[in-house]
Amino acid sequence: MKNSVANARPLPQISLKDVGGLGDEMKEEILQTLTTLKEPERAIKLGIKPPKGILLYGPPGTGKTLLAQAIAHELNASFFTASGSAFNEMFIGVGASRVRSLFKTARKQSPAVIFIDEVDALAAKRKAHGGEEAEKTLTELLVQLDGGHSNDGILFIAATNRKDLLDEAFLRPGRIDFSFHVPLPDTKGRREIIAIHAKGKSFASDVLPQLDELAESTSGFSGAELQSLFETASRRAVRNGQDMIKKQDLDYALDRTILGSTSRSLKDL
Ligand code: ATP
Repeated sequence: MKNSVANARPLPQISLKDVGGLGDEMKEEILQTLTTLKEPERAIKLGIKPPKGILLYGPPGTGKTLLAQAIAHELNASFFTASGSAFNEMFIGVGASRVRSLFKTARKQSPAVIFIDEVDALAAKRKAHGGEEAEKTLTELLVQLDGGHSNDGILFIAATNRKDLLDEAFLRPGRIDFSFHVPLPDTKGRREIIAIHAKGKSFASDVLPQLDELAESTSGFSGAELQSLFETASRRAVRNGQDMIKKQDLDYALDRTILGSTSRSLKDL
């Protein structure tokens, strides 16, 4: 039976510069947190405990995974990633043993970031989630979070779209020390994300001045949707044998993306 749910990935080549729309306040808080993790002894002398766990919460596609990768990169840490649902097992003790083995492997390769996406599948309120096995798995996660020291080189990052579902015991300081809300980007944020995804691509000269306009007309778009918009435009340009992205390609991609999100929200009705 397979016990490991995550493998160490090569250090993500994603830096904080690759994450757009975080806002000045959040960027500042993240930088401060990173400093305490990079210099734990100094932080502890000044009475600050480096965090053991961080929660990133917000709508899908807003860059939570990207941000976790950037944090690992800034810390020069190995990156272990798994989905919360990978711990759900009906067989006795398997979920808990997967949690144990993940932390054990990461500790051997510290400094390390353990990133659990969709953590609500693993750390839902005890009353709400699926029975005794799920409860044991969550208890093991709490044990592992409690077992580490704040300067043992392991940073736990969890992400969710549903913070409201999480167990209070999991969210306690000492386990999760900071919760960062990663919202849908505002116009300025979308402009930053557009700049990130436009970088390195060739555009017809009439397109570049329109990128500000694009930020205005994409209200409600997530970073992932903006990324997909540029990908769709690039694909169309390649298909048409062009060596640059034209306005028509972006217009086409915008229609496709809007259509995609409308049919998604209609399905939700
Ligand atoms: P989910 O909640 O669905 O897991 P997420 O919040 O973790 O989503 P990511 O997986 O980080 O979102 O985003 C997917 C892709 O969308 C990224 O790899 C990146 O290309 C793009 N993207 C999303 N948000 C941003 C952002 N803030 N800045 C730049 N690119 C972004």
